[in-house]
Amino acid sequence: MTTNMLHITTDLPALLTHTLADTPHEGLFVLADTHTAHCCLPLLVPCLPAAATDAVIVIPAGEEHKDVTTLSTVWEALSQRGATRRSLLLCVGGGVVTDLGGFAAATFKRGISYINIPTTLLAMVDAATGGKTGIDHAGLKNEVGAFHLPLHTMVCPAFLATLPEGELLSGLGEMCKHVLIAPNSPSSALCELEALTTLRDASAITCDRLSRTVAIKEYYVSRDPTEQSVRRALNFGHTVGHAIESLLLARGAGVPHGVAVAWGMVAELYLSHVLCGLPLPALRTASRLLREGFGSCPVTCKDYDALYSLMQHDKKNPSPGVIRPALLADVGSPCLDVTAGKEVLFEALDFLREGV
Ligand code: NAD
Repeated sequence: MTTNMLHITTDLPALLTHTLADTPHEGLFVLADTHTAHCCLPLLVPCLPAAATDAVIVIPAGEEHKDVTTLSTVWEALSQRGATRRSLLLCVGGGVVTDLGGFAAATFKRGISYINIPTTLLAMVDAATGGKTGIDHAGLKNEVGAFHLPLHTMVCPAFLATLPEGELLSGLGEMCKHVLIAPNSPSSALCELEALTTLRDASAITCDRLSRTVAIKEYYVSRDPTEQSVRRALNFGHTVGHAIESLLLARGAGVPHGVAVAWGMVAELYLSHVLCGLPLPALRTASRLLREGFGSCPVTCKDYDALYSLMQHDKKNPSPGVIRPALLADVGSPCLDVTAGKEVLFEALDFLREGV
């Protein structure tokens, strides 16, 4: 199970009201960021007890704040407002809020319960389920964290109405990844990939579409909850993608996570072809669709050494410095045990930049 309970609903207020009534807890705390406190909390306030609306903890929005400084302010707010081991934390936001809030819940008083209410497409289809929580540290993505499952994840597409277009694109990046790793036929996956890479309207994201994509994450997580084997398929695109994301973040030119993953997938499709035998037509079609959907990646060959160094810190590496991306032997068939050397990684970055 990716969560103790996953709900996909258009009537979040009713679901939340019933769930809170059925969940014994001692003090309800709400975590939001500066944007979701404004855009998303108003939908929930009518179903929260008055005391909880006084217990809203607001953190600054943005990946650059998914760090130990912000985490420490959340621990402090919980302490000062009298949270106990039986308190419940409601995380209302994108992946930054659910990752950091989940980690605060995993660590405060050695672990309290939490509920995720994801408000970005990316958090709905990925970050808010599966129990991975954490923060960035020392320039490295998700360097410190814990597995800590939310009690519930409540997905409601109504929140997507206020989501900026770039953030919608970011969620579509992770949805494209799910399509490429899903155990379905390559031809149906490539059709779905085409539909996703051309989708630009949040109203086309229905509960049914969200259910299908979350089911793919569920498929892998339920078979391997702590990522010892097959769950690693969910990291497709992330070895190169995280390196690009970290590099651009350090330069103050942050890019939405799912867009970096889409660029990472283009490079890793190339690695999949060279190292795992991904058929050439699949490489061509999938990389063309991803390029058209997510635009060009702003790295140059001067960045290769820095990207390589970041990849050497990837948590998926089997030993220090040995880079082991999650690849594909075909669309829908992960290939998880090959390592990639510097030369082929640089070729993959060339392919990402130039398509050659
Ligand atoms: P995010 O949380 O930074 O949200 C993106 C922006 O959208 C923020 O400015 C936020 O305030 C704003 N926002 C959120 N909901 C909104 C709404 N409904 N309307 C208007 N604005 C809204 O970013 P994200 O893309 O949701 O998540 C990225 C993070 O998720 C990364 O840190 C990544 O590492 C993490 N992640 C975790 C997992 C996991 O398994 N734990 C999986 C994938 C990604």
